Amino acid sequence: MKAEPEHQLRLLDLQEIDSTLDRLQHRSRNLPETAEVAQLDARLGELQSSVTEVETELADIAREQRKAESDVEQVRNRAQRDQQRLDSAQVSSHKELESLQSEIASLNERQSELEEIVLEIMERREAAENRRARFNEELESVSAQRDEAEERRSAAVVDLDTEQQSVRDRRARVVAELPEDLLALYTKLRESYAGIGAAALQYGRCQGCKLALSTAELSEIRTAAPDEVLRCEECRRILVRTTESGL
Ligand SMILES: [Zn+2]
Repeated sequence: MKAEPEHQLRLLDLQEIDSTLDRLQHRSRNLPETAEVAQLDARLGELQSSVTEVETELADIAREQRKAESDVEQVRNRAQRDQQRLDSAQVSSHKELESLQSEIASLNERQSELEEIVLEIMERREAAENRRARFNEELESVSAQRDEAEERRSAAVVDLDTEQQSVRDRRARVVAELPEDLLALYTKLRESYAGIGAAALQYGRCQGCKLALSTAELSEIRTAAPDEVLRCEECRRILVRTTESGL
């Protein structure tokens, strides 16, 4: 293949532009902010399930508390009725009197026990409410952090897009200058050889595979016509002669 030496040199510009675009694409796919947002989202999910869990627990405790309070109420009412009977002086028999007094005593005892249970439930409820408050507080703070990271991510995406667009514009201008067959060869090689289709020959070394050319190869290149499109014997990439080729 033949191509003007200036077009061959322009190919090196295109290679540099394409490598820059590859780097920018890699950067936009691996933004640290994206990982940060994902991490914060995971934490938010954990906190939300913790809140749901503690709310279920609180609903159970509330039910338990209502039941315990109604138990207290029942025992208290019964003791009150007994006391009223006792006070009304309707009880005449000594035996009935004793039995009423003993029932009142045991009801009072039972009431104290039940009130202890209510207190214990209220303590558990308070602890669960505190836990819920802490989860909600953290939820709010993590959610704010997530919004802030998302904002930084969007800003980074916009920056990268702008940069990519300006590099693409530059690429379009360079591509417009190049002959089709040279461009097609470069494109094919770039796809096959890890994104590098053309490399400079610099001080006797191919910048594509970094290997030094043999004396025989170099002397062959010296005698080649300037418009001959050369290929590296080692890596098969287009080898471009420059003023720094050391020929
Ligand atoms: Zn090479």
